[in-house]
Amino acid sequence: MPKIIPDQLPLNNNALKELQRLRATEQSRLFKECGEELKDTMYQCLESVQEAKEIAPLLESLAECAATLEKQENQYNNMALNLELAKKQYTTESENCKEVTLETWDEYVDKTLNAPNLIDILKMERSEEIKSQTRRLPNSRISDTNKTLRILPQIWENPRCVLPDDNDNEDDLMIDGGIIELTCPITCKMFEKPLISKQCNHVFDEEGLKSYFSREPRRDCPQTGCSKILTFRDFIPDPVMALRCRIAQIQETKHLEVGEHESLDVL
Ligand SMILES: [Zn+2]
Repeated sequence: MPKIIPDQLPLNNNALKELQRLRATEQSRLFKECGEELKDTMYQCLESVQEAKEIAPLLESLAECAATLEKQENQYNNMALNLELAKKQYTTESENCKEVTLETWDEYVDKTLNAPNLIDILKMERSEEIKSQTRRLPNSRISDTNKTLRILPQIWENPRCVLPDDNDNEDDLMIDGGIIELTCPITCKMFEKPLISKQCNHVFDEEGLKSYFSREPRRDCPQTGCSKILTFRDFIPDPVMALRCRIAQIQETKHLEVGEHESLDVL
């Protein structure tokens, strides 16, 4: 029996419009919640620990968890982007096809004319294209938690330790003799809401900065020796400093013996 039905036909405009509505479900909130949940669990672990040595295996399994989640989030984002790219490609190819009429029907049957195959287009290898478009991907919701968990063991060992990244700021005046100060140079108290300058990476407490800029909204950085002209808006939260202070406080209140340093001397 001769073939009478084409393998592929181009979609008509209405069907193409329907296709545009097909979207991967929005999952960024879910991943954000997972990240926050992990962070809460991390703090609960830190708060409830009785002996310093208990913490390492807990943090390790949390870090594994976060790494897996980050991988899944990336896979999900890639899949969603792949779907968008495939839709675009399919639509363009479909629109370039000759309209299906009684005259063109036979040509689609004997493949003189060809229509795109949606499944084939979806399955196409796009990793290079996706890589070049990663800036279009939403920021990872998990990587922030993941980063925190990666640096946590070192901070737990010594809340004032200089982390590898800190060394990038060569003129960082917070580093004095290889330690990070946990007290605000303005309030002279331990940071409560540490804010970091986007211009010079100097960290101060929110309270101190507010009073520092209250009379003169644009003035030099409060750090001695730093001449950057700043406003309050140049400062953003510093989660790493907040973590350092929280851990120092936990260790101090519980009198936990961590690392080699004798006294934490924080309060
Ligand atoms: Zn500064």
